[in-house]
Amino acid sequence: MLTVITLSELHATRRSFQGTVGLVPTMGYLHEGHLSLVRQAKEECDHVVVSIFVNPTQFGPKEDLSRYPRDLDRDLSLLDSLGADLVWVPTEQSMYPQGYQTWVEVERITRPLEGSMRPGHFKGVTTVVAKLFNGVQPHKAYFGQKDAQQAAVIRQMTRDLNFPIEIVICPIAREPDGLAMSSRNVYLDTEQRKAATVLYRSLSAARNAYENGERAAEKLRQIMRDVLATELLAQMQYVSCADYDTLEELETVTGKTLLSMAVFIGKTRLIDNFVLG
Ligand code: AMP
Repeated sequence: MLTVITLSELHATRRSFQGTVGLVPTMGYLHEGHLSLVRQAKEECDHVVVSIFVNPTQFGPKEDLSRYPRDLDRDLSLLDSLGADLVWVPTEQSMYPQGYQTWVEVERITRPLEGSMRPGHFKGVTTVVAKLFNGVQPHKAYFGQKDAQQAAVIRQMTRDLNFPIEIVICPIAREPDGLAMSSRNVYLDTEQRKAATVLYRSLSAARNAYENGERAAEKLRQIMRDVLATELLAQMQYVSCADYDTLEELETVTGKTLLSMAVFIGKTRLIDNFVLG
């Protein structure tokens, strides 16, 4: 496995690859969720490139950029053991040099949910992903369903800007008690870690109701709120029952639907979702 930092090293190695290339963009501090993306890329592509870059432009001024967990040595040894071919670890300076002034912005689909709570977040995400796509020029790029709106936004950007890249969305990797894996879970202390299962419990309750025939979206949202309210350490930011493709809030569930939520456990903001239908 090769590790490169500069764009010229990346381009030289990329040129040496024959066959299909899969890209897995990450912010590092890898867990089983990231590794499942790398494994799927390994199965489907001749070469797998992983990027590790904690992208400053997708963090708001009050968010956790400076304390975001990092462990590059551990990440590299995990990726090596999985058989990744190339890891690109660009520097902030090379991604956003002085005088940088170009942004990629997707409109409607970035506005609700995460977009409404984290202004500017998706502008940072789409800009960096476009730069990663241009750098690596992959045939396929792998993203997690964990970040459901991000996946939808990237699909939209890829279509709109004609990137010749297939976007592959991989299922959410979870801990045995249901908590979705996340680099941010390390912020939770023991008590908070127990409380954090409330997201999964709340989504499960709404899904049960759906499976028993409930189709009123507000009823499903209320079920999620009610379960969240039973957990004293949990502070709900939003719950949503939205159309899977447009992310618009529904009145009645008919087709493919996204149940999603953002919840603070202490100072840690967690998101999770289920897909219905
Ligand atoms: P991050 O390092 O948080 O930017 O995540 C990098 C990629 O891994 C994104 O496409 C995430 O959606 C995906 N990812 C993060 N957590 C999980 C998870 N628990 N299961 C599946 N994919 C995940």
